[in-house]
Amino acid sequence: MVKSEKIWMNGELVDWDNANVHVLSHTLHYGLGLFEGIRCYDTASGPAVFRLDEHIQRLFKSAHIFMLDIPYSENDITLAVKETIKANNLKECYIRPLVYIGNGGMGLYVEDNSINLAIAVWPWGSYLGEDGIRNGIRVKTSSFVRSSVNSNMARAKVSGYYVTSQLAKREAILCGFDEALLLDPEGYVSEGSGENVFIVRHGRLKTTPLTSILEGITRESVIEIAGNEGIELTESRFTRDEAYISDEAFFSGTAAEITPIIELDKRSIGNGAPGEITKKIQHIFFDAVKGKNKKYSHWLTYI
Ligand code: PMP
Repeated sequence: MVKSEKIWMNGELVDWDNANVHVLSHTLHYGLGLFEGIRCYDTASGPAVFRLDEHIQRLFKSAHIFMLDIPYSENDITLAVKETIKANNLKECYIRPLVYIGNGGMGLYVEDNSINLAIAVWPWGSYLGEDGIRNGIRVKTSSFVRSSVNSNMARAKVSGYYVTSQLAKREAILCGFDEALLLDPEGYVSEGSGENVFIVRHGRLKTTPLTSILEGITRESVIEIAGNEGIELTESRFTRDEAYISDEAFFSGTAAEITPIIELDKRSIGNGAPGEITKKIQHIFFDAVKGKNKKYSHWLTYI
């Protein structure tokens, strides 16, 4: 991990090495932390954050679902993100706001513990590798399953959910793959350990509906791009064998951006190379985030 200089904690910019929490912080024990992953890109007009408003709104939706009161407004957090990027003098970075419950009471039900906000930014290249973005990755269907819609509230982005993602990711890596694909409790394709998934068949895109998956902001961006390009898209459930016989597949996510999937469970997808529709969407996406496509300039917040 590449360190930066300052981390924003409850309104103060503190040195990276001093950005500490108490070991009895509630979130550390029970996993109820709310977070976002956001990217800032270097553009010809300076650093620009991709879909900052939507990310901050999602953080507040997570808080609404879990009935936590974030002691800042959406505008406060927008300004704090900008301030943190400026303070670290970064042109391109990953941005991680985290709402966490402080120490005080223990046990699952606490009323008086503080609700805290930290915002860290640091340089983070392609999550699934530059080679993965260009040439595609190899994926394994996980033996671990996404939670039922009445266990995890999938619309919220919660720290504790990522233990299942870590099981899946570890299994995939240790078995020699790059990433995991999780199924939902009924056996339909759900999403990656930290990405939404799309397949292409007969020139049409398909992505999993908003049931057991996170409502990805990159996913939504892909849907908008596909609409503008006249590419037909459905949000409907599909099975792993439909993915096996798809012509193309890709993951979408803030960290993973648009990463082609060229193999699933040792079955090549299409001809085993990133497909034409995937490459087209990837190209438009990267132009958009870099401020090179005016149609999507409303997605960028300049610092
Ligand atoms: N699903 C999961 C489980 C994720 O962690 C992420 C990353 N936030 C996504 C999907 C993609 O969401 P987004 O495009 O908003 O980053």
